[in-house]
Amino acid sequence: MDLFEILHKKGHEEVVFCHNKDSGLKAIIAIHNTVLGPALGGLRMWPYESTNEALKDVLRLSRGMTYKAAVSGLNLGGGKAVIIGDPAKDKSEALFRSLGRFIDSLNGRYITAEDVSIDVNDMEYVYQETENVVGVHAVHGGSGDPSPFTALGTGQGVRASLNKVFGNEDVGSYSYAVQGCGHVGYEFVKLLRNEGAKVFVTDINEEAVQACVDLGAEAVPIDDIYGVDADVFSPCALGAVINPDTIDKLKVKIVCGAANNQLATDDMGDELEKRGILYAPDYAVNAGGLMNVSMEFAGYNRERATRMTRTIYYNVGTIFKIADRDNITTWSAADRMAEERIDAIGKLKLPFMGKSHRFPGRVRNSN
Ligand code: NAD
Repeated sequence: MDLFEILHKKGHEEVVFCHNKDSGLKAIIAIHNTVLGPALGGLRMWPYESTNEALKDVLRLSRGMTYKAAVSGLNLGGGKAVIIGDPAKDKSEALFRSLGRFIDSLNGRYITAEDVSIDVNDMEYVYQETENVVGVHAVHGGSGDPSPFTALGTGQGVRASLNKVFGNEDVGSYSYAVQGCGHVGYEFVKLLRNEGAKVFVTDINEEAVQACVDLGAEAVPIDDIYGVDADVFSPCALGAVINPDTIDKLKVKIVCGAANNQLATDDMGDELEKRGILYAPDYAVNAGGLMNVSMEFAGYNRERATRMTRTIYYNVGTIFKIADRDNITTWSAADRMAEERIDAIGKLKLPFMGKSHRFPGRVRNSN
């Protein structure tokens, strides 16, 4: 399909191909939608086999960020950047600084952050060239590790889901099967255990499992996690874990976790519903990390980030209400909620055209 036809169909505003012969930079920045605000989304580096593969990825990911920001009530649009290259061999100061200059040339329409294969040191180079970076080190006014916020938000998604299914939010009275005991999974298990909940965990990393067992969780083998007789299945590791091979094993009443793209295909969301399992849409549930970094623009404040993350309870509850109102699945209700908000706010003002009063720029940490 012609590139402009794809942009037209998926609604992207702008795609920037960034090339620098001296640093070897080959990158693509995609800005999907800036109706709500500047397009925020991570930078990833990957040895894509072709430019087309990189383009497909950046278009898909940037669109996902629009929806995540919109359902989360953030005044942000969706964007993403990808560098075509091998993170093990091709990283250099010049590479990241040249990308930083391209990002700066967008005058705040795109704001970058860390994503797959990018670390805080790479971001320091980008930050030397542009202010339009979030997730930088705390000495620059950055917000630090987003995982505790993502876990807190997942807990809020669980509360909204329990309320819908059981009519109460007594987290400690229910049981949970948590897949993945990494940064988010561990924090989430801690939160559940603090409420006294029964928690089953699995991970391919034995040390990560042990850390959760030390919190009082019970370990189960990798493939057994789907069939655990629990109330909630919480994917906190990989995407596409709700698929034709796993769906019939589920005994839970709720799927609510932090992992991105949990449904292998949209129709898996329909299948969950047919089986009487409530699906809390992942991009609404796991938005705590995005909410946390977004706070950097107003001057990072942990308490405000925590308060904002708690709103995930309301957002997920609203998605369930839209699903009931329109008699649609929860995953399509999440898309609808995002589109309705963009549409309503889009009618109020022009698309974001640069720095706005709401984004005065980073408030630097005086320490
Ligand atoms: P992480 O890498 O720290 O943890 C992932 C864990 O999953 C690791 O411990 C890994 O060993 C485990 N794992 C991998 N394959 C597995 C398998 N087959 N079965 C069981 N466990 C397996 O990552 P994270 O930051 O905790 O993120 C977890 C998920 O949440 C990812 O999908 C991520 O995209 C999503 N997410 C994270 C954040 C955040 O703030 N970190 C925000 C939004 C979404």
